[in-house]
Amino acid sequence: MADHLSKKGYISDEELKLGSGVPSEQRRRRGPVAVIECIEAIPCNPCESSCKARAIFVGADITHPPELFEDKCIGCLSCVPICPGQAIFVVDESYSDQRASVTMPYEFSPLPEKNEVVTALDRSGQVLGDATVKAVRKTKKMDRTALVTIEAPREWSMKARAFRLKR
Ligand code: SF4
Ligand code: SF4
Repeated sequence: MADHLSKKGYISDEELKLGSGVPSEQRRRRGPVAVIECIEAIPCNPCESSCKARAIFVGADITHPPELFEDKCIGCLSCVPICPGQAIFVVDESYSDQRASVTMPYEFSPLPEKNEVVTALDRSGQVLGDATVKAVRKTKKMDRTALVTIEAPREWSMKARAFRLKR
């Protein structure tokens, strides 16, 4: 398991399907929901304790990869900045008929600005195309991690996982 992740440094679409953190398309279309891209048996569980909705399960054996209970998730974003592996995203495919939003952790400087057009990238760093920043959230509690929400074509909702500034 996770052969691609260990060799290439990013998770493949096939490996992602092996985990239990990906919400169904039906759930994604209903509104914001977490996508947990963490499939390795590592000792880690802050995502579980950060979720007041009890939508994430790791359990007593903290090497158990997290499971998402998609119907409990309310898309609150709390788990995203807490994950040390930057492995959690919140997608919203109900954003509009053609567009989705993707909220991701961001630890670079400078931060983007609201309505700025950026270049969306996939998990491997390949360019997808233009996306628009819709929100930038940063609080003291989040430490170095900001949350950036981008709006992009709906077909990128499970692909766009990073971006770079054009400036
Ligand atoms: S987005 Fe909120 S409700 Fe959903 S899994 Fe994360 S912390 Fe729980
Ligand atoms: S906090 Fe992140 S790295 Fe740790 S178990 Fe949860 S999803 Fe995986």
